[in-house]
Amino acid sequence: MTNLAELIDAAATRYPDRIAIVAGERRLPFREIRDRANSLADTLRRKGVQPGARVALSCPNVPEFTIAYWGILKAGAVVVPLNVTLRGREIAYHLEDSRSTAYIAHDAPTGRALVEAARDGFDRVESCSLFVSISDGPECGVTLVDHEPLSGDNGLPTLERGDEDTAVILYTSGTTGQPKGAELGHRNLRENALATRHVYGIDAALPDTYLCVLPLFHAFGQTCIQNGATAFGGTVVMLPRFDPSECLRLMIDERVTIFAGVPTMYWGLLGALDDATGVRQLEGSLRVAAAGGAALPAEVHRQFAQRFGVQILEGYGLSETSPTATSSVLGEPLRLGSIGRPIPGVEMKLINDDWSDVPDTPGAVGEIAIKGHNVMKGYHNRPEATAAAIRDGWFRSGDLGKKDADGFYYIVGRVKDLIIRGGFNVYPRELEEVLMTHPAVSLVAVIGTPHETLGEEIKAVAIKNDGFDDVTEADLVEWGKKQFASYKYPRVVEFVDKFPTTPTGKILKRELR
Ligand code: AMP
Repeated sequence: MTNLAELIDAAATRYPDRIAIVAGERRLPFREIRDRANSLADTLRRKGVQPGARVALSCPNVPEFTIAYWGILKAGAVVVPLNVTLRGREIAYHLEDSRSTAYIAHDAPTGRALVEAARDGFDRVESCSLFVSISDGPECGVTLVDHEPLSGDNGLPTLERGDEDTAVILYTSGTTGQPKGAELGHRNLRENALATRHVYGIDAALPDTYLCVLPLFHAFGQTCIQNGATAFGGTVVMLPRFDPSECLRLMIDERVTIFAGVPTMYWGLLGALDDATGVRQLEGSLRVAAAGGAALPAEVHRQFAQRFGVQILEGYGLSETSPTATSSVLGEPLRLGSIGRPIPGVEMKLINDDWSDVPDTPGAVGEIAIKGHNVMKGYHNRPEATAAAIRDGWFRSGDLGKKDADGFYYIVGRVKDLIIRGGFNVYPRELEEVLMTHPAVSLVAVIGTPHETLGEEIKAVAIKNDGFDDVTEADLVEWGKKQFASYKYPRVVEFVDKFPTTPTGKILKRELR
């Protein structure tokens, strides 16, 4: 198997009538996903999209995302999933940077936004000639809903690709400002999807039902849900936007067995759960809860395990690593606060700024470096950024971590989130974990703010729990003073109603600063 899209071909052959996707009232079997993907692949080929050409895809979590994803791959082309919240000029940047020759928009307004951006003089957009609206009317060009789905297996065969050929380009901001495209090969993505079997304890004979609220344009949802479910014949229940009550309803009604989300989603679910009815109805179905994408506060983990009766498996990775690099594994002893150990076929170590290894002693902190089948080929058209990020197969993550004596890793924080106050290193994660145990604190993020003499000062931004109106910001500063060494307690506390987050649900510390 080389082309990643052979996953959908295999699933459609093995389980033609099994439901692959549930979205609102729609229930699509694997056969239909494959046939519609064939139809799209056929259209793309006829329109002149060559193997290896980039095709940008802007689509929320609806079945068309998955159909387009497989269709583009089947044609031998490269999927460039775009964050659906991007606006005209940003879309144009991504099309230009990826040198996309076709653009598939979910609906006419997104298509039109691009046409408007093109008018602002983005050359590349003009040569990106094919606009396909997969769900709306013909305004953007070809309307695929009107296409006759090819019958049975009659579509052109999935084009052969090499393991190392690029399958998907995922845009990520990484450590620098401008989004860069992480080029992931067919093998990168296939191996990472197949790894979910081990991590989630999947038995293809007992198909799972996944709740997919993580955006499919992001690595976590794409690999761990969409591709993993396709590989093992699972059903994906799609939700385009995170709404905790709707998530709970779907978990109950669709008897969801696997939920994967970023920590703020777990926090949201805890807030929405009505203990009496909810937990009783959930009982028995949910068997896997997977978290990643950002640090899972131990307090959120504890509460979730207690109220939902399921331990959260925390994993770690990046767009550049397909994404999973480490994970706690179902059925194995779990360490609170740990991201688990590297998944099979992946190695990890801690390095210094100059790439030298940090001494292999438990507790020593260093930058996490990753090697294995999951590491991207490089950043699209950016040889310098690639050389700065990958050396001898090792990818440097920009995250600080440590390891215990049994090889379990712990994330200390992003290198760039490290606060240096008066020459002392302060790791926000450590403070956040403690602040979360204060009864008034529901969620907290610790950041460094510029300071004239100290370089940086420590600030905690927190959302309060209900019923603690009388707790003041000064109270929390005083409380912190008793918990932490004098150089690292937060001198400033600010209460807010909500945090700025990415569309995936990660807290945007950059914006808080
Ligand atoms: P992305 O490329 O959007 O997937 O973001 C990758 C970044 O998310 C990593 O570099 C980490 O900073 C962060 N991240 C992912 N998983 C975890 C985790 N379990 N704990 C802390 N940070 C995480």
